[in-house]
Amino acid sequence: MSAQSAATATANERVKTLTLDSTQIYLTALNSTTSTLSFPPIPSSFPPSNFIPNTRFLIDSFRHPFTAFSASYFLSHFHPDQYSGLSPSWSKGIIFCSHLTCLLLIETLKIPPRFVFALPLNDPVLVDGCEVILIDANHCPGSVQLLFKVPTKNGIFERYVHTGDFRSCNPMKLNSYLIGFVGCDAIFLDTTYCDPKCIFPSQEESIDYVVSVVDRIGKEFGRRRVLFLIATYVAGKEKILVEVARRCKTKICVDGRKMEILRVLGYGDGEVFTEDESESDVHVVGWSVLGETWPYFRPNFVIMEEIMVEKGYEKVVGFVPTGWTFEVKRNKFAVQTKDTFEIHLVPCSEHSNYDELKEYVKFLKPKKVIPTVGMDFEKLESKHADEMRKQFDGLIDEMDNKDLLMGFHRGNCETVEKVERDANEERVMERNKNMFEIKTVESNDMDVSSNDVSYVHKPDSQDSTIPSEEERERIIEETRDSLPKWVTRDQILDLVSSSRWNIVEAVSNFYEHEIEFYEQVSVFRTFESASHASSPNSPISLSKSGPFRSSTDESVNTNLSQVSKSPSLKLTRWSNISPSKRKKNTEKRSNKKVKSNSKLESSGSKQPTITSFFSKLLPDDSKGGKTDRKN
Ligand SMILES: [Zn+2]
Repeated sequence: MSAQSAATATANERVKTLTLDSTQIYLTALNSTTSTLSFPPIPSSFPPSNFIPNTRFLIDSFRHPFTAFSASYFLSHFHPDQYSGLSPSWSKGIIFCSHLTCLLLIETLKIPPRFVFALPLNDPVLVDGCEVILIDANHCPGSVQLLFKVPTKNGIFERYVHTGDFRSCNPMKLNSYLIGFVGCDAIFLDTTYCDPKCIFPSQEESIDYVVSVVDRIGKEFGRRRVLFLIATYVAGKEKILVEVARRCKTKICVDGRKMEILRVLGYGDGEVFTEDESESDVHVVGWSVLGETWPYFRPNFVIMEEIMVEKGYEKVVGFVPTGWTFEVKRNKFAVQTKDTFEIHLVPCSEHSNYDELKEYVKFLKPKKVIPTVGMDFEKLESKHADEMRKQFDGLIDEMDNKDLLMGFHRGNCETVEKVERDANEERVMERNKNMFEIKTVESNDMDVSSNDVSYVHKPDSQDSTIPSEEERERIIEETRDSLPKWVTRDQILDLVSSSRWNIVEAVSNFYEHEIEFYEQVSVFRTFESASHASSPNSPISLSKSGPFRSSTDESVNTNLSQVSKSPSLKLTRWSNISPSKRKKNTEKRSNKKVKSNSKLESSGSKQPTITSFFSKLLPDDSKGGKTDRKN
């Protein structure tokens, strides 16, 4: 291209670039006669994951008290976690989002259209002087990642990537706009599964699985005898539904609310979805109808039976598309059965798994990683925060550039406006800063970490090299962090050595046999207190004769028989309470109606690491709709 034509192209692009002033759009929406607006400074307590530095762009943040600081709101996608705070009476600012999300906001949430502004995909626009580009997030229909180029005083741009909720995939990395953000100043990262344990199959594998089960059982039983129930949210999992319909040659029955969403998404022609129950044996049900899913699955066979009787079927097969749960192992699909009911847990996450997150960060090489999920800003010294930091250490250790910095971008708060802070806030800030302080990675550390990475990410590796003593200690410590506190060092040693020093495998093996391990500790402690003869470090050999073997507690066995795939958290919880309380809880849980264990989950500081890590991600009842975070 000649210099002249290049200049013409640039000029044309300039002409095409949509230039928006959010304040003016907002004033027009308000039908206001004034021409300016003033907002107070963004306070230091504002969650750093929800605003873009040096702007007033608030991301997925519509809840009071975070709504008084801006007229520019961005919504990454149409999930309750993100749009919580929006209602038909919304008038606090302009919501920028994708076309599809815009439609969903107007059609289903009844947000006044004058407060919603649809931005194009893969097409830069200027909002308040900043270049904004929306790219696909591979999460739910309409979901986007937000790319921001923010001019600074020196005529230089700061570049930020906000992933919203996303499932990273290779085609994403070919997006030329995203490539332009390699080396960006920060990535606001969907850290839902930022943990080495969080590995699960690809979306395609999961869809294949559902299709094969529907096909096999459907043929075996024939029409009107077996009912298939697929649990989804109001908006979500459309990909599975469409594929099941196409490949099993059946329509999918949905309720009116889901149909309303599907119409907006372009499925309103009746080809795939129907509201007429008699037209299909594959019905969509609400998210928690088949049971609670997080952090481990608790089936609700009672409701399944009610539905079966009501609809006149002989058998019910349920599918629960999960994210990562304790049941999820790579390439495995857990099934829970009772009488004529079966429930298949299908890892079909719309969030990136651990490996995908690492790959994405490695690709983008950001200067900072700001987690958007799972951080509890009021408890910065929590074990959970520490766990999250460790995962980022792991991410940055992998990268070639040792100078890359990661951590919380608390400094952003200072640059936005001069903000008055009280001494306490300063202390919190300082603690936070220290916690996520950038670490210069020394060459020795790099060597060690690259060894770690090889253990973590090559679970099938046959490499039987025994690591050095120092490396073994690191592996033992890392494994310990993923296990309940009652697990002894000898048990951990047995686990990692029998798993070829592979941490993921060791932790997986543990949760498959947690009862055995727990019983070993109990028996050992009983023996120890009776005889006072054993050393605390006496080796305990692992039982290989199958789970539940030596349990003498009938109620425990009864309960476990219903959730035999997922006993882990129960024991994890029990390990912190007295045997009598444990018995009581067991009896409570054996009630037919499965209840939330949220109270138990939040009990006590001795909560095992893995539980506390994820319990922070648990839905807060007051916020509602948070289960979608895990899927
Ligand atoms: Zn989401």
